[in-house]
Amino acid sequence: MPIATTDPATGEVLRTYDEMPPDRIDAAIAAAHRAFAELRGTSVAQRARWLTAAADLLDAERDDIARVMTTEMGKTYAAAKAEAAKCAAACRFYADNAERFLADEPADAAAVGARRAVVRYQPIGPVLAVMPWNFPLWQVIRFAAPALTAGNTGLLKHASNVPQTALWLGELFGRAGFPEGAFTALLVGSSAVERILTDPRVRAATLTGSEPAGRSIAAIAGRELKKTVLELGGSDPFVVMPSADLDRAAEVATTARCQNNGQSCIAAKRFIVHADVFDAFTERFVDRMAALRVGDPMDERTDVGPLASERGRNEVAAQVRDAAERGARVLCGGEVPDRPGWWYPPTVVTDLTPEMRMWGEEVFGPAAGLYRVSSYDEAVEVANGTSFGLGANAWTRDPEEQERFATDLDAGSVFVNGMTTSYPQLPFGGVRNSGYGRELSALGMREFCNVKTVWVGEGGPSAGAGAHAE
Ligand code: NAP
Repeated sequence: MPIATTDPATGEVLRTYDEMPPDRIDAAIAAAHRAFAELRGTSVAQRARWLTAAADLLDAERDDIARVMTTEMGKTYAAAKAEAAKCAAACRFYADNAERFLADEPADAAAVGARRAVVRYQPIGPVLAVMPWNFPLWQVIRFAAPALTAGNTGLLKHASNVPQTALWLGELFGRAGFPEGAFTALLVGSSAVERILTDPRVRAATLTGSEPAGRSIAAIAGRELKKTVLELGGSDPFVVMPSADLDRAAEVATTARCQNNGQSCIAAKRFIVHADVFDAFTERFVDRMAALRVGDPMDERTDVGPLASERGRNEVAAQVRDAAERGARVLCGGEVPDRPGWWYPPTVVTDLTPEMRMWGEEVFGPAAGLYRVSSYDEAVEVANGTSFGLGANAWTRDPEEQERFATDLDAGSVFVNGMTTSYPQLPFGGVRNSGYGRELSALGMREFCNVKTVWVGEGGPSAGAGAHAE
């Protein structure tokens, strides 16, 4: 895939970049290694101050970097500005909480025959971050803010279609005060990842992206015995039960499916509706989806812009066409408009069956699948019936059902009566083919830490006696 900025609204290639040659990649790894030696010697308080400076830059340059994101991948300008603001807020969250998250945790010293026993969180070194284009700032910041504040350094291999955002990010942390080489953007294609990850100076990798990319990186890292965090795809269920507030559920369903032009890993993608309210919900949902304004992503009135790539748009169109050809009904949308750029309208498809692609695959665009179920058990069965397990949504005012959904939905997060969202305060990640490991919260900060056991005895002859020596 060429490294280039291509405007998805027109299909016009605006700027192309040469891939970094191997010697520059090596120099960046060496710089990250050197910066790690320096960064690990700084205090958490100092790193937190640099992170606050990064937040200030994000706020000050919000409109400019938002325009770059909209130009490179087509999200609406309003959404891009909100993304930059969320990044600044996440930096401030970690700046405010890093000392607490990284403080020594006392353990029961007497129980282990010690004078003092603690768990200490220490950085592990340079981490390779392979990132996607869909939230080109947020996906990177949610890794980098906690990782750098913990004392690690980062090497960013961003998606090939967002090079200008990548370069801006590659300079952000240095401008904020972090040591030179602490965070570098490598303009490379995916074929360079193996070489970088096998370098002994690179200690771990995090990937946000597709399942095939996850399998590839996990295989390389497994061979090299390196830690990975994988944030992969999802096909999140959105269950609507008879007691739900249908107006609110339909409103959130529309936003959840079409946010970021339908290209969010935690977008609700499968709408599983109890038969008692199926028609009433469907009417509300289809009306709202059909009323969304598709158009110029720079226009503040636009709800849905173009998809990020021609390949991605064609994939969504093919998934919907496959369902229609096998007997599904398209309730709105479903036609690729005849205009330059990579557009796809908000679409609702029902009467889906397991042999259709939309049943089991992730649909990365504004096309929703509607499923009719007749009981709680059937709702859970359909909701858990794909290989994914990222987020899940349930709409019910019945307190007992709320608790049951929270337990029974097999996903990394369950949101009841609200939209699945990532918050710096809450862990984020998936189960099954949606990946493993957690980002955000204290857990995200500790993923790339050596969780070190420190045991200190009296130093006398009987210290540690009686313990099983393993
Ligand atoms: P993708 O093809 O996997 O690309 C993501 C990143 O991985 C890019 O930097 C890409 O580089 C790189 N890459 C691709 N194949 C690779 C390989 N074999 N080895 C190493 N690196 C590789 O993903 P996408 O289709 O563009 O993005 C959408 C996917 O990401 C969806 O499945 C979505 O659900 C998922 N996603 C997950 C989360 C989450 O938090 N769980 C968040 C956002 C998106 P190039 O651009 O150079 O190919």
